[in-house]
Amino acid sequence: MTFLRIDPRLVERLRDALHVVIFTGAGMSAESGVPTFRDRMTGLWARHDPQDIATPEAFRRNPQLVWDWHVHLAESVRAATPNAGHRAIAALQDLVQQVTVITQNIDGLHARAGSREIIELHGNLLRLRGFRDDDGRQEGLRLARPPRPCPLCGARCAPPGAWNPDPGLSLAGFGLAAGPVPRCPKCGARLRPDVVWFNEMLDPDLLDQAWAAMENCDAVLCVGASLEVEPAASLPFRALECGHAVIEINPAPTALSALADASVRGGAASALPRLVESVWGSAQGPGE
Ligand SMILES: [Zn+2]
Repeated sequence: MTFLRIDPRLVERLRDALHVVIFTGAGMSAESGVPTFRDRMTGLWARHDPQDIATPEAFRRNPQLVWDWHVHLAESVRAATPNAGHRAIAALQDLVQQVTVITQNIDGLHARAGSREIIELHGNLLRLRGFRDDDGRQEGLRLARPPRPCPLCGARCAPPGAWNPDPGLSLAGFGLAAGPVPRCPKCGARLRPDVVWFNEMLDPDLLDQAWAAMENCDAVLCVGASLEVEPAASLPFRALECGHAVIEINPAPTALSALADASVRGGAASALPRLVESVWGSAQGPGE
């Protein structure tokens, strides 16, 4: 393994860190074979625009089309495997007191690699939830008194009379698979992938957790994130404002490059294991 040349003072700061945040974007999973939304718009899907197929409006208009496209996307996600970068992040948990992963990816690969504390800002493609009638609508348009959310799927669109009282029901048997759009067995709402579509807001609780992690950590590794989509793009800058060490790993320069304490040019699968080895010496443990 080729070691990275990093300022020894920065290495010391990283080794002293008790809480490290790893912020990851699409580049994190590129070497795992996970395509971007746009890369997946091929073959039968080439005539569709992601904006017309990954929005609450599209699901309301044609739920089966939107469902089928996500089944298609899920094929590539299920076929993907965590790369050496995901594994290096998971291994860091044995070397640092607390490691928080904040990811914009919906592929679940951090969990599959063994990371435990993960904030999935854009959700998880392979998890389902109920489609709410107010999904994607602005705050002011919300119903004055939204019905009680379904305890199983979170949907608020079903009339109370439609609820199935069977307490043994669960969503465990439902997955993103070819066929008709499934419905929640309790309330009857259509089920949708638990991801953030275009025209939807990030979960405010998750965003709060991510801001808090950026403010309270000691160091941030920003990996494979182009930092072009707000509000997630602002997160690493918050860590800089707080005076924490920020290291960027990305093949191309970003808005963060000039401000970060170090900027490493490379892909996640190659550069991240080298960084972890160079700073923490994963084989020996920290500081040895
Ligand atoms: Zn439900």
